[in-house]
Amino acid sequence: MGVRITLAPPRVGIGETRYGLMNIHCPKCRWEPTPEARWTCRCGTIWNTFETGGQCPACRKVWRDTQCLACAQWSKHHDWYHGLPPVDELMREEEAVV
Ligand SMILES: [Zn+2]
Ligand SMILES: [Zn+2]
Repeated sequence: MGVRITLAPPRVGIGETRYGLMNIHCPKCRWEPTPEARWTCRCGTIWNTFETGGQCPACRKVWRDTQCLACAQWSKHHDWYHGLPPVDELMREEEAVV
């Protein structure tokens, strides 16, 4: 056998994993933030707010509202996440399996 196949696990960062598991977009205009998107904190830090759940990595301020870079409107950070099954639903599924 001269053929050697190596199956390497896909290399994905934390942010990429999150983007793949759930749908994140502006609840007002449906703009989807890219991994390159950047937000600016009051302390001057520039970072991707969706990689930290809305928290500034420098001053630890939690931004409960996130401004859309496309339509410039503010929405609750939580409202940007779509497609997450409710916790109740997950528990019901576990019961069904048993
Ligand atoms: Zn928007
Ligand atoms: Zn900050």
